[in-house]
Amino acid sequence: MKIYFKPLTYITIFAFALFTCSSDDSSSDDSVDNGDDDDVAVTELHAAFAAFNSDAVTAILSDDGTEVYIETTGFPDHTSIYWETDNALYMDEPGVTKTTQDTYIGGGQGEAASFTVDAIPNLTGSTVTTQLNTIGIAVSGASIFNDQEGAGDLDQAAGSLDWAGAHKGPGVYHYHLEPTPITNDDESLVGILLDGVFIYGRQCISTGTYPTDLDASGGHTSTTQYTDGAEEYHYHIINEEYPAGNYAYDPAYVLFAGPFQGY
Ligand SMILES: [Zn+2]
Ligand SMILES: [Zn+2]
Repeated sequence: MKIYFKPLTYITIFAFALFTCSSDDSSSDDSVDNGDDDDVAVTELHAAFAAFNSDAVTAILSDDGTEVYIETTGFPDHTSIYWETDNALYMDEPGVTKTTQDTYIGGGQGEAASFTVDAIPNLTGSTVTTQLNTIGIAVSGASIFNDQEGAGDLDQAAGSLDWAGAHKGPGVYHYHLEPTPITNDDESLVGILLDGVFIYGRQCISTGTYPTDLDASGGHTSTTQYTDGAEEYHYHIINEEYPAGNYAYDPAYVLFAGPFQGY
């Protein structure tokens, strides 16, 4: 899995290839092992991508079916104090102290992000710790971060998190906590992480309640609402309250603390 920015021309080529290669691009005999990875090909995008905000997020399957390129404007489709005050999605949040008064969604370096994941995450590799940067893209279109802020943990910054468990410093607008406009103590899809694994809310549709078989990353293998009865490895927001001190919207749940399991 690499994180890099692809020129627009590549996107065009991929899109064109999708239309021209279509179904005879066999998924079984093109698994050339170049020693790099056990890349497995698929013939269509995962059904979960249909849940993403299409105004912000674009997901494109590579022509050989082994990778998915995902890009986002980073603009969430919900209200926040971090929108400019004249934006229709601006919401006053008296309990929230913005990171700086002049920061707003779309300001600074903007919110855009992109990365490429394996179409089928590699669950046999080693675990990888998360970084202080975008670790995934939520269905709303905004970035997902881990449970760290700057050099320390999140406590010091919790007062700046909006009702979605997100904030924006000079960089992108990003979630640290359970993003309640997306999932609020339910089984909704939250987004996809850099290792290609999808993350869901605190509950799992396979049992209709909180999963009890999660690994250290909040992952387990079961059916989901997007797998048509098949079992698939995925993450959940771990149902363990995070005592986020001055967070204005108790209770708080860390969205994803890692490590990645899908590299
Ligand atoms: Zn942050
Ligand atoms: Zn589950």
